[in-house]
Amino acid sequence: MARKEVKKPNPRAIARTIPMCQFSAMGISMFYSGTGLDRAAAQRRDEEWIARQLHDRSSRIVPVWRGHNLILAGSNPSALTLTGDHSRGLLEIAGEIALLGLDGATAFFAADLSDHEMPVLAPIIGRGEFSDIREYGMLLDRGEAALLAYARGLLFWHQRHRYCGICGGPTAPRQGGHVRVCGTEECGAEHFPRTDPAVIMLVTRPGPEGGAALLGRQARWPQGMMSTLAGFVDPGESLEEAVAREVMEESGIEVTDVQYQASQPWPFPSSLMLGFRARAKTVHINIDPNELEDARWFTRAQISEFGKSNELRLPRTDSIARWLIDGWLREPF
Ligand SMILES: [Zn+2]
Repeated sequence: MARKEVKKPNPRAIARTIPMCQFSAMGISMFYSGTGLDRAAAQRRDEEWIARQLHDRSSRIVPVWRGHNLILAGSNPSALTLTGDHSRGLLEIAGEIALLGLDGATAFFAADLSDHEMPVLAPIIGRGEFSDIREYGMLLDRGEAALLAYARGLLFWHQRHRYCGICGGPTAPRQGGHVRVCGTEECGAEHFPRTDPAVIMLVTRPGPEGGAALLGRQARWPQGMMSTLAGFVDPGESLEEAVAREVMEESGIEVTDVQYQASQPWPFPSSLMLGFRARAKTVHINIDPNELEDARWFTRAQISEFGKSNELRLPRTDSIARWLIDGWLREPF
């Protein structure tokens, strides 16, 4: 039977009373950040050290299967990491294995089981089940959610970079899975884990009762959900330029005073969300129907009616979008 990781003092109570963020010595800490692990950048260059950690039965393995994490479901869900005999069996059949880091002297590894069908895995994973972390993220211990997201994101990168983008030759992991090296002798290019920067911005405009915020929705989102605008950063573009361009493209609104707020890892599959506030210089909305199916100005009073007098609702509490909106709602005016 899989043994559950021994937890540190559980910050869940804090996470639930302050659902959007925590304030730490490093500033604002978003959901899916803050694993607390030492990423062991120096040690992971030592192949023998990596091998010793892998053979150490106290090392903890974070299994990932086809983008899903191993979770003990229920009213109080928790992440399952494997150690001892269970981790041995898992490591024997795993595809990619990547070092996540150290918690004290204990090494954490992510192991990709995607090549196997569930009946093969069932005896190993015990009572756990592979789930989309976003189904449970808000209920998990914050550190556990960050650990699972990190494992998922790193292994996704491995899956998508098995071949060299320069010569097409096969690549192989090095440095505990934090680089892939092309195996073609005359090439030998090193490829590093990629994160795609995306800007996400709350656009507001002054007005009576504290003004209004621009919220929109994509057709594929859950019904009624209205959120901040967002988009990927283009090559050759500053973050501030990306904010202004995306808002203009999606809504036809011109913005100024673009101010960075906070960031959030969003490895679903590989984004880093960079949160901004911006002030609208124009009011008339002209949506790009290829991007959005709706965008509107909402006052604080209108947002407070979400889910009451209408079917509209705000984004998930584990998202930086919600953090940006809630921050604006709390501001005095
Ligand atoms: Zn190559």
